[in-house]
Amino acid sequence: MIPTSFDYVRAGSLKETLNLLAAGDGTKIIAGGHSLLPMMKFRLVQTPRLVDISRLEELRGITEHKKGARIGATTTYAELATSPILRERCPVVAEVAAEIADLQVRNRGTLGGGLAHADPASDMPAVMLALDAEFELRSKKAGKRSVKAREFFKGPFATAMTEDELFTGIVLGGMGRTAAAYESFDQAASGYALVGVCAVVARKRTAIAAITVAFTGLGEVQFLSPAFDRLVDTKGDRATLAQAALEAVKGVEIAGDLHAPAEYRRHLAQVAATRAVQKAYERAGA
Ligand SMILES: Cc1cc2nc3c(=O)[nH]c(=O)nc-3n(C[C@H](O)[C@H](O)[C@H](O)COP(=O)(O)OP(=O)(O)OC[C@H]3O[C@@H](n4cnc5c(N)ncnc54)[C@H](O)[C@@H]3O)c2cc1C
Repeated sequence: MIPTSFDYVRAGSLKETLNLLAAGDGTKIIAGGHSLLPMMKFRLVQTPRLVDISRLEELRGITEHKKGARIGATTTYAELATSPILRERCPVVAEVAAEIADLQVRNRGTLGGGLAHADPASDMPAVMLALDAEFELRSKKAGKRSVKAREFFKGPFATAMTEDELFTGIVLGGMGRTAAAYESFDQAASGYALVGVCAVVARKRTAIAAITVAFTGLGEVQFLSPAFDRLVDTKGDRATLAQAALEAVKGVEIAGDLHAPAEYRRHLAQVAATRAVQKAYERAGA
């Protein structure tokens, strides 16, 4: 289909972008366009004006930040996947980015765009939840503010951002003594996760000292499951882990579709969770 007509502005500066968003007339940001353009073509999104931020250098790039990293919103998946800073300080983000979609999507699609879009099946929100990332937002009216990933995702395609806000960056804390792993089962055609699980584990010798596990693809929004707390002070033995994985998805209202019925997804989620926790546990001990 053909989108409704709209104006196109290539933003020359951050200030210009914030001014255009402040007009409050339904102006929308376009970064890589991989999610927005299909929505516009289906007329699920209509806008009088697109502001293209893809050439704003101040929104791009990965820098060291305290013991972790700061990622500009328009940094592409390809840049994440090959970042030496992330490979050293937060490898799971680079690993997941390397597996998203295909080369074309990774070359144009941006981390900020994917997070702002908040597709309930996308991979990175689960990673951001498990890592307890912080998102930087900015508007002309309210200035800068920081929102935890854990308070950002509100529902399918719904976030804590206001219409006049620009997503400017992602802050990741240091991994310290923790390690992370992500496991997913993907749709063969698009690479989108049928289910995905990110686990972050800290170890004290052979015992799990702390654990955080986040799921994607199961319901209306990515979520953290407290079911894995029972693994703390254990070695994450098979039976306890299986019980935690079962509990994590029990009662979750899972959306089935033509790619995977709900019960199949529930099963895959338990397998992915078990694998992610085991991998993170091994990594934390290395
Ligand atoms: C074929 C295909 C396969 C895919 N496979 C996967 C996959 O395996 N896993 C996965 O997780 N995802 C997958 N995706 C989704 C992909 O990750 C997203 O399309 C992409 O990340 C969106 O980023 P973008 O820069 O293209 O955003 P855009 O399409 O430009 O924007 C998306 C939305 O975010 C808003 N937005 C963008 N940037 C900002 C900003 N800085 N501030 C405020 N609002 C902003 C836009 O207004 C729009 O509403 C796939 C997409 C395609 C097309």
